[in-house]
Amino acid sequence: MGLCFDNQVSIHVYCVCVCLMPAGEKLVVAVSGDPRFPHASFKCEMCDCYFNDEFAKKAHVKGRRHRLNYKKMYQPDLYVEPTKSMVSQPL
Ligand SMILES: [Zn+2]
Repeated sequence: MGLCFDNQVSIHVYCVCVCLMPAGEKLVVAVSGDPRFPHASFKCEMCDCYFNDEFAKKAHVKGRRHRLNYKKMYQPDLYVEPTKSMVSQPL
């Protein structure tokens, strides 16, 4: 039983990763010389977050916090993956 449960968990995690699509990438704009974060290259205007590079920016638009904000402000029907405590519950 233990093994079976482990398999289900990893399959579920894999599914969440594959389904995760970036949302609201246009809300992240290029910045330079921002007084608060002079080394930042990008800023998410919705979340007021700063990023140093393209990789951090891409991670952010796929991140849960950004997607939750986007869901609240722009797209109420956007799929946002459940929290970890919810994932462990049976469907
Ligand atoms: Zn954001």
